[in-house]
Amino acid sequence: MVEKVFWDDPYLTHLEAEVRTVDADDVTLDRTLFYAFSGGQESDTGTIAGQPVLNARKTGPEIIYTLAKNHGLTPGQRVWIEIDWPRRYRLMRLHFACEITLELVYQAIPGIEKIGAHIAEDKARIDFQYAQNMSPLLDDLTQRITALIEQNRPIFSEYSDEDGERRFWRIDDFAQVPCGGTHLRKTGEIGQVTLKRKNPGKGKERIEITVDD
Ligand SMILES: [Zn+2]
Repeated sequence: MVEKVFWDDPYLTHLEAEVRTVDADDVTLDRTLFYAFSGGQESDTGTIAGQPVLNARKTGPEIIYTLAKNHGLTPGQRVWIEIDWPRRYRLMRLHFACEITLELVYQAIPGIEKIGAHIAEDKARIDFQYAQNMSPLLDDLTQRITALIEQNRPIFSEYSDEDGERRFWRIDDFAQVPCGGTHLRKTGEIGQVTLKRKNPGKGKERIEITVDD
């Protein structure tokens, strides 16, 4: 299985690796910093050996990268991997804004059920099964999120089970949550957060999250 260097150092933008397998357009690597869609966080964009990665997908503990036809890579070849860092950093900031929002919603409405989440480069959203309008909660939520960001609290990211590749993040005296995404080191990096309430369907509530540029 590929060594996921994006966990040890989520701030790394370049990495040298070895091609492990080649199956037509699909390649695997011995190690990577290129995140593949998981936990609602979109895949990175970037290149392997200068060639754009068209798709990155997780299958069990492996990550398969699809390149253009005639990529010419062979097993054993040393390659440079490069990711679009401005995009990844925005994904990391929005991802953690989501983490904090979700945790605060769970604390405010015990038992509420999350039914979906998506983190893209421009905005993120969390969907809940909830029969009431969440608008009255937003001011208080925003204040609590802003307080955590202004306190610039350290975020710890560690394994709960290294062999099973299970990880969690923790902010002391706030929460510890299982997640295999790429996490910031400090809450202050999130920046200014704006929340919007939407109604994606009957009995459902959505919180849309944006961060400043
Ligand atoms: Zn996470």
